[in-house]
Amino acid sequence: SLKGKTAVITGSNSGIGLGVARELAKAGANVVLNSFTDRKEDHDLAQEIADSHGVEARYIKADLSKGDEARGLIETAGTCDILVNNAGIQHVAPVEEFPAEKWDAIIAIMLSSAFHTSAVAVPMMRKAGWGRIVNIASAHGLRASPYKSAYVAAKHGVVGMTKVVALETAQEPITANAICPGYVMTPLVESQIPDTMKQYGMDRETAIKEVILDRQPSKEFTTVEELGGVTTFLCSDAAKQITGTTISVDGGWTAM
Ligand code: NAD
Repeated sequence: SLKGKTAVITGSNSGIGLGVARELAKAGANVVLNSFTDRKEDHDLAQEIADSHGVEARYIKADLSKGDEARGLIETAGTCDILVNNAGIQHVAPVEEFPAEKWDAIIAIMLSSAFHTSAVAVPMMRKAGWGRIVNIASAHGLRASPYKSAYVAAKHGVVGMTKVVALETAQEPITANAICPGYVMTPLVESQIPDTMKQYGMDRETAIKEVILDRQPSKEFTTVEELGGVTTFLCSDAAKQITGTTISVDGGWTAM
C-alpha cells in the first residue's frame, strides 16, 4: 500500500494524469493534482478523489511552461514521495513550418518542467528516504513520426533525463523510470476521431483500426487505468531494482 506517501502528478485534471492520480489514490497515496487553470471543477476533482478513496487530495495551480512555477508546484506541495511528470501538449506541422513558439512551449511543458520538478523533488525524496519518479514519455520517446519534431524531441529528451536522474540516485532508495504509452483514449485522441472519419470516409471502427491505430499492432487503445496500474507497480517493492529504464505500454508498436 502507498498509504502515507504523497504523489504529485503534473497535468492531472484530465486524461492520463487524472487516471494515474485515481489509481495511486486507490492504492492509498495522498495526491496533488495540477494544471494551469484554477477553476472550481479542478478543486472538485481533488475533493472527489479524497472522498472516494479516503486519502488527502488537493489541486495546485501551476503553469508548467514556466520553470519557476514548476519548481513552485513541488515547493507548495511540501512533500513529494512520488513524482509523475505527465503534463503535455501536441502540435503537428512540417519542420519548416513549425511555429517557433509552439516548439518552445512543447519543450518547456514536456521536458524542462520535468527537469525543474525533479530538481526540487529529489532532495525531498532523499530526506524522506524513499522516492519514485515516473515520467510519462511516449512511444515517441523511442520512435519518430513525421511532423512531430518538438513532441518527439521532448519525449526523447525525457527518456534521456530519466536515465541520468536514475544514475544519480542509483545507490539510494529512489528510482526514476519512463512509461512509454502508445495511443491512449483520452479527450485529446477522441477529438481526432470525427475528422479522421470524414477525411477517410470511414465509419468510426474502421477509422480507429486502420488510421489511428495503424501503428499499434494490438489494434486496441491503452487505457488510463492501465497506465495508473503500471505507475503503481513502479512504486511497489517488486520494482525496487527497476530504474533508468522505459516500460512500453503500446500494444506492440515498438516491437516493429
Ligand atoms: P490531456 O490533454 O488529456 O492531458 C494533458 C494534461 O496536461 C492536462 O491536464 C492539461 O491541463 C495539462 N497541461 C497542458 N499544458 C499545461 C501547462 N502549461 N501547465 C500545466 N499543465 C498543463 O492529454 P493526455 O493524452 O492525457 O496526455 C498526458 C501525457 O501523456 C502527455 O505528456 C502526452 O504527451 C502523453 N501521452 C499521451 C498519449 C495519448 O495517446 N493520449 C500517448 C503517449 C503519451
